Amino acid sequence: MKILIVEDEPKTGDYLRQGLGEAGFVVDLAREGIDGMHLALTGEYDLLVLDVMLPGVDGWTILQAVRRAGGEMPVLFLTARDAVEDRVRGLELGADDYLVKPFAFSELLARVRTLLRRGKNKEPEVLRAADLELDLMRRRVTRGGSRIDLTAKEFGLLELLLRRQGEVLPRSLIASQVWDMNFDSDTNVIEVAVRRLRAKVDDPFEPKLIRTVRGMGYVLEADEQA
Ligand code: CA
Repeated sequence: MKILIVEDEPKTGDYLRQGLGEAGFVVDLAREGIDGMHLALTGEYDLLVLDVMLPGVDGWTILQAVRRAGGEMPVLFLTARDAVEDRVRGLELGADDYLVKPFAFSELLARVRTLLRRGKNKEPEVLRAADLELDLMRRRVTRGGSRIDLTAKEFGLLELLLRRQGEVLPRSLIASQVWDMNFDSDTNVIEVAVRRLRAKVDDPFEPKLIRTVRGMGYVLEADEQA
């Protein structure tokens, strides 16, 4: 899941990026309205977190531009002001929720998860393949009913493989979706992560779900003969 944060206060921006990153999201941070608008219109995000007051272009303008361009991802506004007219304006323009600063990170995370859950993609709460289950809201993975502990990156990787079951995912795609980096950076990172993930979700079990497709990438597939 990819989130864009547009926030000009350095501390708040860094804090949000770190917190959401640790929660397992891929996060882009823009510190100015113009950069933020550009990213919001060109990147593929599952959710936007927009500060209202920004240098250059404000949060409302970004939201308007996104909605006009047909972007339907949920948008959470951050506002320093608790004025009713601000909230109304934001909601009228198509924001889905707002938080008044200062807020607790746990509150923001809860809102983000709720918005993603009821987002237009209506994502299923549990992804499955054979007896492997990944619960998106609880951030929990089980196989055959046994709990499996994964790191945030391993969880993100498994989520991607499960969402696109049966599709061979090139390393470059995995790198950009889970690590937010380019293919050239370090493909070894992905091989190592896949190996670790397999050791946890596949090695102790049958059938094996994650396959390496030589020269292409990885695919997660439950045996159809089962
Ligand atoms: Ca601001």
